[in-house]
Amino acid sequence: MRTPLVAGNWKCHLTVPEAVALVQSLRKPLDGLKGVEVVVCPPYTSLSAVKSQLASSSIALGAQDLFWEPHGAFTGEVSGPMLADAGCRFCIIGHSERRRYFGETDEAAHRKLLAALAHGLTAIVCIGETLEEREQGKTFEVLKRQVSAALDGATAQEMARVVVAYEPVWAIGTGRHATPEQAQEAHRFIRERLTALLGTPLASQTVRIQYGGSVTAANALSLLSQPDVDGALVGGASLKADSFVAIVKAAAEAKAIAA
Ligand code: PEP
Repeated sequence: MRTPLVAGNWKCHLTVPEAVALVQSLRKPLDGLKGVEVVVCPPYTSLSAVKSQLASSSIALGAQDLFWEPHGAFTGEVSGPMLADAGCRFCIIGHSERRRYFGETDEAAHRKLLAALAHGLTAIVCIGETLEEREQGKTFEVLKRQVSAALDGATAQEMARVVVAYEPVWAIGTGRHATPEQAQEAHRFIRERLTALLGTPLASQTVRIQYGGSVTAANALSLLSQPDVDGALVGGASLKADSFVAIVKAAAEAKAIAA
């Protein structure tokens, strides 16, 4: 069985003292919790302070993005080796907000994936359709294109350090989450695509596929109980300790029920 992964994407929120206070309040309820893996992804400015707070914790540190070159004259960018050096184990790639506001393409997501893998990070690769694409019946076409482009050439071995996050764009930050049935349908489709890309169902069965988009303490259990949903990428609800802890516990409970 796949261990669910719950990741908090803190986006462009929290000063250093605020980030430290949040991670401090996560440690007691989440440290050592069995059956679920937990990651927090603060802004770059708080990575170091949060890392210090996570000493000997089971909560891992992640970044929200990276640049594909390891170093050079790329003002404003942060690279894979820098993130690894800062203590990150995970990195979000291709988030829809990067695609929408910063023009990030499928090709850029692919280059970032390669950089993350090259520098020992586990990549959380985000894909998902817009509302317009869903309404036009293009959801599967979009998912197929994004999965194939981002993961092009990845081997079954490399996929051990890849997590796919299905994040319908219309559900991100809107308060309108996918129904459990919609999530399961998309996740099953993504897993089928992974089987086609990797050439074996054995490999695709081990890849975790998270759901993201307005996950809350109230809807987490029903979403995370779906057979192909392996945890959540959480934005807004990860900024409050109570709601994030409740989502992590729902992930553990969902898998305990399934076992
Ligand atoms: C996200 O940022 O990836 C996300 C899913 O945000 P929210 O939970 O706020 O919809």
